[in-house]
Amino acid sequence: MASTQPVVAPVETGAAPLLEIRGLHKSFGKTAVLKGIDLSVRRGELVALIGPSGSGKSTLLRCINRLEEPTQGAIFLDGADVTAARRDLNGMRRQIGMVFQAFNLYPHLSAEANVALALRKVLKLPRGEAARRARAALDQVGLEGRYCARPMQLSGGQQQRVGIARSMALEPKLFLFDEPTSALDPELVAEVLSVMRKLSDDGKTMVVVTHEMAFARDVADRIVFMDQGRIVDQGPPDHIFRDSTNPRLADFLRSFR
Ligand code: ADP
Ligand code: MG
Repeated sequence: MASTQPVVAPVETGAAPLLEIRGLHKSFGKTAVLKGIDLSVRRGELVALIGPSGSGKSTLLRCINRLEEPTQGAIFLDGADVTAARRDLNGMRRQIGMVFQAFNLYPHLSAEANVALALRKVLKLPRGEAARRARAALDQVGLEGRYCARPMQLSGGQQQRVGIARSMALEPKLFLFDEPTSALDPELVAEVLSVMRKLSDDGKTMVVVTHEMAFARDVADRIVFMDQGRIVDQGPPDHIFRDSTNPRLADFLRSFR
C-alpha cells in the first residue's frame, strides 16, 4: 500500500456519507489512470458515472471494492477505511454488491442455485434458508417462475436480472454497477434498467457506470462526468444536461446524439 498520508476517519453522524473517496490515485506502472478523485455518496443516493471510454470509470469502481489496489488516497465505506492494509477484504466486499457487464453466472446451475450459492458461500446460510432468500430475490427482479432455468435458457436481460438478484440477496450497503446493460440487445435494456430504478426507489445507495443517458437523466440524483482520470463536472441531471458549459462534457454528450 503506497498511501503516504495518515488518514483520520470522518466523524460518524447520521449525515455522514455512506461512501467517501479522498485524493484517490491509481497508476498502472507509469500510466496514471486516476489522478485525484474526491467523491462522496450519500445514503440512498444514485450516482451515475459517465465519461468517455478509458476515462477511468471501471478502475474507480474496482478501487472501491479493492479489485484494484489504489496507489494513493483513502476510501471510507460507512466510516470504515476500505484501503487500510489490514482490512478484511472478504468482509468488506460483502458490504459492496458489484454487477458487471458480463453476467458471470455459473452455466450449469439454475437461477435459484446461482443466487443461493452466493448466500451459502458468502453469508454461510444453511441450504434451505439460502434457497428461500434466493427465490425472494428472484421474485423482486421479476423472475418468479424461472427459478429452475439455467442461464442458457434465459435471455440476456433475464440473466443480468439474476446477477442483480444475486447482489441484492447479499443485502450490501452499496451497489456498484459497471455498464450493466452494455452487453444486451437493445430491446432487453429496459427491463434491467427498470429493476435498477426499483432498487433506487427502495432507497439503495448505488454508483452506476452507464452509457444510458436517458436513465441517468431520469433516475440519477447526481451525475458525475469523468475524463482522463479526473472528475471534470458533476451535478444534478439538469446541471449536466442543460446548464453546464464544460466543453469536454458537451463533446461527450454530443456523441450520443
Ligand atoms: P473506462 O471504464 O472509463 O473505460 P478504465 O478504468 O477501464 O476506463 O481504463 C482506464 C485506463 O486504464 C485505460 O487507458 C486502460 O487501458 C487502463 N487500464 C485499466 N486497467 C488496466 C490494467 N490492469 N493495466 C494497465 N492499464 C489498465
Ligand atoms: Mg469501463
